[in-house]
Amino acid sequence: MRDRNFLIENNAKPIWHPMAHPAEMRAQPPRIIMKGEAIFVTDIEGRTVLDSVGGLWNVNLGFSCDPIKKAIADQLGELPYYSGFRGTSTGPSIELAFELTAGEPPTISFTIDGQRREMTPRLIVGADGRGSDVARQIGMKVETAPLHHLLAGLLVEGVDAWPDAEFSIGNDDDVMFFVFPQGNGRVRLYLCYGLDQRGRFSGADSARRFLDAFRLSSLPDKEMFCSAVPAGPCHGYPNADTWIDMPVAPGVVLIGDAAGHNDPTIGQGLSIAFRDARLVHEALLGSKRWTGDIFLSYATERRTRMRRLRFTAEQISILRAEFTETARKRRRRVSERIAADRDAALPLLIPVKGPFGVPDHLFEQAAWDALMN
Ligand SMILES: Cc1cc2nc3c(=O)[nH]c(=O)nc-3n(C[C@H](O)[C@H](O)[C@H](O)COP(=O)(O)OP(=O)(O)OC[C@H]3O[C@@H](n4cnc5c(N)ncnc54)[C@H](O)[C@@H]3O)c2cc1C
Repeated sequence: MRDRNFLIENNAKPIWHPMAHPAEMRAQPPRIIMKGEAIFVTDIEGRTVLDSVGGLWNVNLGFSCDPIKKAIADQLGELPYYSGFRGTSTGPSIELAFELTAGEPPTISFTIDGQRREMTPRLIVGADGRGSDVARQIGMKVETAPLHHLLAGLLVEGVDAWPDAEFSIGNDDDVMFFVFPQGNGRVRLYLCYGLDQRGRFSGADSARRFLDAFRLSSLPDKEMFCSAVPAGPCHGYPNADTWIDMPVAPGVVLIGDAAGHNDPTIGQGLSIAFRDARLVHEALLGSKRWTGDIFLSYATERRTRMRRLRFTAEQISILRAEFTETARKRRRRVSERIAADRDAALPLLIPVKGPFGVPDHLFEQAAWDALMN
C-alpha cells in the first residue's frame, strides 16, 4: 500500500465515485476507509465508527468474519468469479440459492459444501421487493394490471435556478413531467411517456436524450435542464400495478413491493411499504402466537388500500399520461370543471391525503364519471 500522504493527495482524483459528481468529490474528498472489524470501520485518520449501512447491504455478517474469510479464500483457489449472465451458471450460486416452504413453522433450506441445511424460523417476513422470490417460492398469485405508460427518471445537478422548496408536476407536448428538487442544485426529474415510444430513453446517450426532452415550454425557462449534469443513471420503467390479494401464508407474510406495488406515477411506494411494516409490527406485538390468522386484518386492510390506490393511479394515468388529442381535450375539460368547483379536484388529492383520507364515494364509478367524462 502506498503511504498515507499519497492516498490523501490523490483521493477522488483518479476514481469517479458512483452517484456523485467528480468535482464535488474533489472539493469534499470522501472518507478513506482503511480497516473493517465486525460492525466497525476505521478511517485513515484513525477514527473508528459504526458502519450502519453494512458495507452497502452486503456485509450483513460483519467485516473480517473468519468463516467468511476462509470460504472466500477457498473459493479463490477454485473459481474466483464467473458471470451468471444467460448461458452460464456456477456451482456455489446454485448451492447457496434458498428454497422456502410455507408452514408453521416455515422452512428455508440451502446447500453448502454439498450438505443440505435447513432452518425453521418462527416467521418469514418477505420484504424482497418487486418480483419477490419469497412470493414466487410459496406460489402466491400475483395479479398485474395492463401496462398503461412508461416512466423514465434521472437525478441531475448544477440546476441552481430551480427553487429548492418548489416541486412541479405537469403535462407538456407528449410527456407528463415531474421536477423534485433535492437541495443544493440537485433535482430528480421524471418523464412519463406513451407505450408507442418504448426505447425513447434507453441505450447509449439516454441521459442526453432525456434532458433534451425536458426542453418544455411550460417551464419558466425551457433551457434550464439542458445543461444540467446527470448524477445517476437514466432508466425507463414499465408503470403497472401488481398486487397479491392474500399476502399471508402459514409462517410467511409479505410486505412492501414484495406484496405488490402501485403504479409509481402517484408516488405511493414508500408510504405503502412503511404502513405495511407498521401493521405487521403491531400484529406481532399484539399476539404471542405468530400464526397466520394474526395478519388477517393487515391483509384485509391492504386489499382495500391497494384497490383504492389502483383506482386513483388509473384515473391519474388516464388523465395525465395519455397524449392523444382526445386526452388533451379531457385534460382541458377536467381543468375547467375544477376551476368551476374546487371540490371536483378531491380525487386528484388522494396521493397526498392517502386512500383513507378522503370520502369513500370517491372510489366509485359515479365519482370517476363526474370528474372524467
Ligand atoms: C421509477 C420509480 C420511481 C418511484 N418513485 C417513488 C416515489 O416518488 N415515492 C415513493 O414513495 N415510491 C416511489 N417508488 C417506489 C418505491 O421505490 C418502492 O415502492 C419501495 O422502495 C418499496 O420498498 P420495499 O422495501 O418493499 O422494496 P425495495 O426497496 O425494492 O427493497 C427490497 C430489498 O430486498 C433486497 N433483496 C431482494 N432479494 C433478496 C434476497 N434474496 N436476499 C436479501 N435481500 C434481497 C433488494 O436488494 C432490495 O434492497 C418508485 C419506484 C420506481 C421504480
